[in-house]
Amino acid sequence: MNTFDTVVIGAGMAGVTAARMLTDAGQRVVVLEARDRIGGRMHSDREAGFPVDLGASWIHGIDDSPLWDLVQALGIPTLEYTVGSFQVGGRPIENFDGEARPMDAAATRQWIADVEEADRLLVCEIDASSPGDTYLDVTERALDRSALAPERIDEIREFFRHRVEEQCGAWIGDLDAHGLDEDAIDGDEVIFPGGYDELPRRIAAGLDIRLGQVVEYVGRSSAGVVVRTADSEVTADQVLVTAPLGVLKAGSISFDPALPDDIAGPIDRLGMGVFNKIFLQFPTRFWREDSYVVRALGEAGERWHSWYDVSAVSGIPTLLTFAAGPLGRHLQEATDDEIVDDVVAALRALYGDAVVEPRARWITRWGDDEFSRGSYSHLALGSSHHDHDELAGPVDGVLHFAGEATWGDEPATVGAAYYSGHRAAERILGRPVDRDAFAAGIRARERTADR
Ligand SMILES: Cc1cc2nc3c(=O)[nH]c(=O)nc-3n(C[C@H](O)[C@H](O)[C@H](O)COP(=O)(O)OP(=O)(O)OC[C@H]3O[C@@H](n4cnc5c(N)ncnc54)[C@H](O)[C@@H]3O)c2cc1C
Repeated sequence: MNTFDTVVIGAGMAGVTAARMLTDAGQRVVVLEARDRIGGRMHSDREAGFPVDLGASWIHGIDDSPLWDLVQALGIPTLEYTVGSFQVGGRPIENFDGEARPMDAAATRQWIADVEEADRLLVCEIDASSPGDTYLDVTERALDRSALAPERIDEIREFFRHRVEEQCGAWIGDLDAHGLDEDAIDGDEVIFPGGYDELPRRIAAGLDIRLGQVVEYVGRSSAGVVVRTADSEVTADQVLVTAPLGVLKAGSISFDPALPDDIAGPIDRLGMGVFNKIFLQFPTRFWREDSYVVRALGEAGERWHSWYDVSAVSGIPTLLTFAAGPLGRHLQEATDDEIVDDVVAALRALYGDAVVEPRARWITRWGDDEFSRGSYSHLALGSSHHDHDELAGPVDGVLHFAGEATWGDEPATVGAAYYSGHRAAERILGRPVDRDAFAAGIRARERTADR
């Protein structure tokens, strides 16, 4: 008999969700996690006395969201923040034009209307696109069809490029024309003032999770699976792999026999983007009190274009900006000082000497992280939506995959990780698992532990 029913590789949102559901169903489950912490790409750094979400921050749309239902069932505090997905309207944005001048209300209204018009044309071009068309191709066609002034076309071109970089971590010319099809935001967006990783931590409480276990080998046969790290071996009936797409692409885990084309193909075709965060904390606030976001258009915002006000989390004036796509990869080689100086110079172009030196900073390098090798997956040219779900397997009835890259409806999100973990648990058990009962079980265990 194998030691475990299921071995789960990775203790991010997908892994802990599946492990919890399987354990609740009576299975013997072990989770092998390479890092010295759980949560994976949900990582709240609390060293400064308040949380800084270095990975995921937002739920992008809470309407009809089982993820939101779970967060509510667990009573996790949230803050409404409905501009987390590179929207042009939504909550107040302090816009600067290409010459770094503040835009008044009329100019802002016109900008929003122009982007919305270009977006309408873009949707038509995406619908009419052919295989092999990139997001850059359809964007250019839409802009060609628009009756907008040349300077405005340049600004919107830049805006579309930045939107792809933020949403996918990719260069616009590498993304398939359908790469943002799943990007709809239904309802408000929220962030987590207590740190987003409270969610996977609470799901994981009480599970058999072994940290610092870097899986190198997964063997499978009709008798089950063998999973090896450098110095240990676990046998089980089934294995669930939740290592990120970047890790699978790098071949860091060897599979024996080799993965079939159904799985190897999507791993090869889908893209893994880079999206890094830079948090800067200032002694004083120099941007408007009511702004959710500061955004610079055109030349003024060529490299650094959007700063998100996340002061509410710590009570200290804090801006969050992103380095994504080619800039994100490039800056992984730069020092923290070089990055901060560059961001501060861009802010000074907008606010002048009001921008004093930051008092603290947090900078991520997810592309260099050996247990992630990128930030999240996207539809690279040559891949299809189908590739995401195909990647889930199962293979030979014993090898399953879960994680954000395996969920085609809204890949690259915490929701995708949660839903894919749930799907994997149902497939392994061969029966449905009720999400409400799952949440109620977590609460019930917490109440028992508190007594
Ligand atoms: C900077 C950034 C910002 C983001 N912002 C948002 C956001 O605002 N909203 C949103 O919804 N999503 C966001 N995301 C995406 C979201 O964080 C992920 O989609 C989600 O957390 C992925 O969960 P997962 O379980 O699929 O993978 P992971 O969380 O990466 O978990 C996989 C686990 O596998 C482990 N592992 C890897 N290799 C091995 C190995 N060989 N052996 C053992 N263990 C291994 C890893 O250490 C990791 O813990 C963001 C991501 C990043 C990087």
